[in-house]
Amino acid sequence: MGIVRIAIDGPSGAGKSTIAKRASAELGIEYIDTGAMYRAIAYKMNVSGIATTDEAAVEKMLAQTAIDFVDGNIIVDGRIINDEIRTHEISGMASKCSALGIVRMKLVELQKFMAQQKSVIMDGRDIGTNVIPDAEYKFFITATPKERAGRRFAELSEKGQAVTYERVLADIIERDYNDTTRKLNPLKKAHDALEIDTTGMNIEDVTNIIIQEVKKHGNIKTI
Ligand code: C5P
Repeated sequence: MGIVRIAIDGPSGAGKSTIAKRASAELGIEYIDTGAMYRAIAYKMNVSGIATTDEAAVEKMLAQTAIDFVDGNIIVDGRIINDEIRTHEISGMASKCSALGIVRMKLVELQKFMAQQKSVIMDGRDIGTNVIPDAEYKFFITATPKERAGRRFAELSEKGQAVTYERVLADIIERDYNDTTRKLNPLKKAHDALEIDTTGMNIEDVTNIIIQEVKKHGNIKTI
């Protein structure tokens, strides 16, 4: 088997990035977190005070932005910003700015380019349907909103962020709505994706299902 592209889609908090990170380490292939790319743009808009309605300013900022992944870190304009983009505030902003046509156009183009270079495991909302429709493997990871809110709440609390479970659940429901109803590349299961409902499941077991599925077909060319 040569280069493989693994697409993982699903709603917020379903465990996609934890699963993708572990699978990438186990399979020895690069992990591309596309949600982090939307978050990075939201972060830059936040820092520079750019409104989502100011299309000219958004376009100018996009043209001056360099995004890369090195060893699982997101590097924006030469700086690692893993932690800055993982706040509650940036989550909400990323959901809004990911509906902007110019933002999606730039990031999808970059994601398609990244997926041509080498074997990758890429997670997001539109990977199997839009970014890599011809991916060798496609998975759609879900869980109930309550389960996802519980996981996200635990993660944010552990980082010391002051949020309540109720607020996290309300945000998850709102983000599901935004992601599935937006006009451009909405969250949707690709017809040929394997759906895994992780409610009540251990993340380790889900990761193993994916790894076994991929390994069934032989060795992967990693570069
Ligand atoms: O996955 P994560 O929560 O980090 O993604 C942040 C936001 O980026 C999501 O709320 C979603 O709206 C958006 N997103 C997207 N398309 C992707 C990945 C993320 O619209 N492929």
